Amino acid sequence: MYSENNIKELVELDKQYVWHPFTQMSDWLEEEPLIVDEGEGCTLIDIRGDRYLDGVSSIWVNVHGHRRAEIDQAIIDQLGRIAHSTFLGLSNTPAVKLAKELVDIMPSSLAKVFYSDNGSTGVEIALKMAFQYWQQCQTPQPAKTRFISLVNGYHGDTIGSVSVGGMDLFHQIYRPLLFDTLKVQAPYCYRCHLGKAYPQCDMICLAEMEETMERHHQEVAAVVVEPLIQGAGGMVTFPEGYTRKVRDLAKKFNILFVADEVATGFGRTGRLFACQHEGIEPDIMIAAKGITGGYLPLAVTVTTQGIFDGFCGEYGEQKTLFHGHTYTANPLACAAALANLEIFKKENTIDKLQDKIVILEQGLEPFLELKHVGDIRQLGFMVGIELVMDRETRAPYSYEEKTGIKVIQEARKQGLVIRPLGDVVVLTPPLSISPEELKELLDITFYSIRKVTEV
Ligand code: PMP
Repeated sequence: MYSENNIKELVELDKQYVWHPFTQMSDWLEEEPLIVDEGEGCTLIDIRGDRYLDGVSSIWVNVHGHRRAEIDQAIIDQLGRIAHSTFLGLSNTPAVKLAKELVDIMPSSLAKVFYSDNGSTGVEIALKMAFQYWQQCQTPQPAKTRFISLVNGYHGDTIGSVSVGGMDLFHQIYRPLLFDTLKVQAPYCYRCHLGKAYPQCDMICLAEMEETMERHHQEVAAVVVEPLIQGAGGMVTFPEGYTRKVRDLAKKFNILFVADEVATGFGRTGRLFACQHEGIEPDIMIAAKGITGGYLPLAVTVTTQGIFDGFCGEYGEQKTLFHGHTYTANPLACAAALANLEIFKKENTIDKLQDKIVILEQGLEPFLELKHVGDIRQLGFMVGIELVMDRETRAPYSYEEKTGIKVIQEARKQGLVIRPLGDVVVLTPPLSISPEELKELLDITFYSIRKVTEV
């Protein structure tokens, strides 16, 4: 516990020296920041000793709770051996073991693991891999240099991953810096851009994807998608089978299919990977976030033997993937990831999750009674509650009203940490959350939405 003086000092230091991500710092300086000091299970504890339920798993990363003894111990054990050695020209024990474990649990098309340390970077690597593959594979197709991606998609904040992103709010300002991509409208059934209703629509929105592929396949290296659900775009769930159809079309037109499972991987959607809901075998898959159970930064870009083979050859042919980061395959992170996967097996995490997904689904039903809840979307433990000014017309609130932010501020007063995406209230609790904690999460969220939107 900290004294009032310590607390004051920490708050002042934060305000004086720190620039927080995705944060309007003018607002931040006006407020009392929540400074986390400890965690325990699904609870965050701040410097005042106040406890908060971690309703977004510390931005969708935490899996089995904070301070899981097994993951703590795995990191301590690894510290007793070595914290870091380079992966450029050397290997390390936990990274080797982890690569095998990952290939075992991922879709069977995937065979080779390339490490990095965050989701955006994992996507950059996927883009470079796909691009370079066509330049130098056995039957090179040097014209295949472009990417297809989805409107409202989010793949990270680096320039390449922003180039394949499709969220104007985050990406528009950087447009002059980005490379050109082919953008296809994604399904957003609540606000269908074609004015149709699912399922009568027969997923007619796929036609644009098919036309784009048909017209441009000779110049397209890959299509990049978040399978089944667009996370940062507002927890927008795709109609069943949509992602699978995109995958099939990509195969038909000889376009690589890149699945960005940064958000969806490691149980978040109710299966280990979202692709597995629809039997999708990607050519390249990126995973990060939950890979270490939410402990340390680690990402993987995993690909097929065929793509890997495209990079092999005589040294002088210069087919090498010229990419690698200083902390690639950090042994501490890999040791945490191994312990994380061990818990999945030991505790049957995915099986046990199924009942909790149902509890969450049932607990969300009453939210539709709230006057300003327009849509509720859920895939496993990814939930988006879209707030609207007018439920009849589906008219959104104005950006300036900060409705989503007000809801999470109210929730915080009640002991719950959540973070909205615009006016979509997001719930992504740790997979280890108990039914009682789930109820608390739902109760506080319900109360906070009502308090803010029905005054
Ligand atoms: N892809 C997806 C689908 C994501 O949701 C995110 C992060 N929310 C990223 C990539 C970027 O990951 P990171 O923040 O680790 O760079």
